[in-house]
Amino acid sequence: MNKKRLVVVGGGAGGMSAAAKARRQNRDLQIVAYEKGGFVSFGACGLPYFIQGIIKDHNELIVRTPAQFAEQGIEVHIHHEVTEIDPAKGQVKVRDAHSAEQVVPFDYLLLGTGGASFRPPIPGLELEGVFTLRSIEEGLAIRRFIAEQKPQRAVIVGGGYIGLEMAEALHAHGMTVTVLEMLPQVLPNFDADMAGLVAQELEKQGVALYTEHGVEGLDGSGGRVGAVAAAGEEFPADMVILSVGIKPGVSLARQAGIALGPTGAVAVDGQMRTNLEGVYAAGDVAEAHHLVTGKPAYIPLGTTANKQGRTAGENIGGGQAVFSGVVGTAVVKVFESHAARTGLTEQEAEKEGFDALAVTIKQGSRARYYPGGSPLHVKLVFERQSGRLLGGQIVGREDVAKRVDVIAAALHAGWSVDDFSRLDLSYAPPFSPVWDALLIAANVSLSAWQKAK
Ligand SMILES: Cc1cc2nc3c(=O)[nH]c(=O)nc-3n(C[C@H](O)[C@H](O)[C@H](O)COP(=O)(O)OP(=O)(O)OC[C@H]3O[C@@H](n4cnc5c(N)ncnc54)[C@H](O)[C@@H]3O)c2cc1C
Repeated sequence: MNKKRLVVVGGGAGGMSAAAKARRQNRDLQIVAYEKGGFVSFGACGLPYFIQGIIKDHNELIVRTPAQFAEQGIEVHIHHEVTEIDPAKGQVKVRDAHSAEQVVPFDYLLLGTGGASFRPPIPGLELEGVFTLRSIEEGLAIRRFIAEQKPQRAVIVGGGYIGLEMAEALHAHGMTVTVLEMLPQVLPNFDADMAGLVAQELEKQGVALYTEHGVEGLDGSGGRVGAVAAAGEEFPADMVILSVGIKPGVSLARQAGIALGPTGAVAVDGQMRTNLEGVYAAGDVAEAHHLVTGKPAYIPLGTTANKQGRTAGENIGGGQAVFSGVVGTAVVKVFESHAARTGLTEQEAEKEGFDALAVTIKQGSRARYYPGGSPLHVKLVFERQSGRLLGGQIVGREDVAKRVDVIAAALHAGWSVDDFSRLDLSYAPPFSPVWDALLIAANVSLSAWQKAK
């Protein structure tokens, strides 16, 4: 009997978790993965910490090597780019590092081409000392540049998650760091009041932040970057990190007739199937169903890529898995400040047409009398009529991530602020006050809802 073949395009979290799960699900499947870069199955999320020097060796970011995949019966080819998908014939064209082309047939295809750093159409991006950060190769290039060129002044273009993680990483190397952000606030996925707390932390740490500074171009001499022009001003720079967003890597999908959704990423159902028979997609190339809005969303995160890949792999292997969707939970560390969000911000809720109310409270992270506590700022967003919880944001210095996960669980359950206020949460003085910040926020929301409805 001829074995069925799964071809995986892209060796990131989406592609390789699909390959690994498909193998566990089905021992008879032939699995071949193609990755155009030099690494597979790596934690891109760890790259800022590798650049900072907290992680010494890039190999620590690699979950499994091609040799380890081979032991599981998964054939991995690095430096192999899939250049074309022919769904009608069930085959892909693959080009290796020596430009040799081959045609490989498939029964199932997993599109895991990920996302690409957005490069705005401004002059000077080709100058030496200008970097984006997405791959291990780019992380290694940044580390090498810092070690060899000893830059003193870094400009980060874009104040999103990666930009701010990089501000901390480069500051740790003793550089003077400037963040230029086009919008009026950093962290555009947070409400301005919560993002403002993170901006205060940047200022406290000596990072210069310029909001409403859209970058117009980069200048340099001798082929090397020397300054960034933004909002009519010049910012001197020995190195520049360009971090202005991710766009889904859909060029192969488009060419193959794989349908894109309203966000511009690949449209998938709960089983991670695309519109084409036998063709699945997972990770930053794909959309996800948003459980709060009920619409497709593009929220490219590692946690989602892993779950989508696992779901696709199980189904390709003959199982019956469903990925129900996301609520947009994310967390970022910016020096001492930790910022987390889930569901919709107040601004997003309004944009989505919800009649939303929001409540913000400040409460200590530990019992008042127990040493070492710090303030937690919690914002809850809920629907005026039903009291349904729509989202939450937390900024503080400890236990922010795990507290936001409680809100995420409530969003999955479709709870109201009333349900949320009844939660039996843990308490001992080193961990929280007897009324945890989440419960205070829920109680204040409950009162606000009762008054407003
Ligand atoms: C610096 C940084 C920090 C991050 N931090 C976090 C975090 O803290 N938390 C979080 O949840 N997420 C984080 N993320 C996001 C997370 O890393 C991504 O969501 C995840 O890597 C997506 O996995 P993927 O497999 O879909 O895409 P990728 O990791 O982009 O992998 C896709 C792979 O496909 C390859 N490929 C593309 N086209 C082809 C082709 N035609 N042929 C062969 N190969 C191809 C690419 O070379 C790439 O290796 C971070 C990302 C970055 C860059």
